[in-house]
Amino acid sequence: MDIRNCSNCGKIYNYDGFNICIQCRRDEEKLFQKVKEYLRENPGAAIPEISEETEVESSKIIEFLRQGRLEVKDANNLILECERCEAPIRTGRFCDKCMVEMDREFKGSIGGGRDPRDLGSGDFKRKLRAGERYRKRR
Ligand SMILES: [Zn+2]
Ligand SMILES: [Zn+2]
Repeated sequence: MDIRNCSNCGKIYNYDGFNICIQCRRDEEKLFQKVKEYLRENPGAAIPEISEETEVESSKIIEFLRQGRLEVKDANNLILECERCEAPIRTGRFCDKCMVEMDREFKGSIGGGRDPRDLGSGDFKRKLRAGERYRKRR
């Protein structure tokens, strides 16, 4: 058994691959659904508005967006910035242009070793799968 402290509430829990306990995960899932619902009904909403209406901290909303779990459907509502070039993006951490560039740079620096997509998208796919699990649970 692997007992750890929840990085959110500090309680000990049975580690099962997540760094927060199951109770916090449930709470977070509730917040996530709230934000998701709100964004579906108000695709043009900005983060402060979403935060006010859903009572979810804006840092949490940004976290959901960064994780790629939330996506703003309105093409004009770009509330996140690319962490690399600060271009407005709808979800995740980087814009498409930077993703391509980083992929290329990574390939160059490793020098034809392993495919950089293995590293980058492996993580991304895991997150996608986690996202699917969330969706299926509803
Ligand atoms: Zn917890
Ligand atoms: Zn960028």
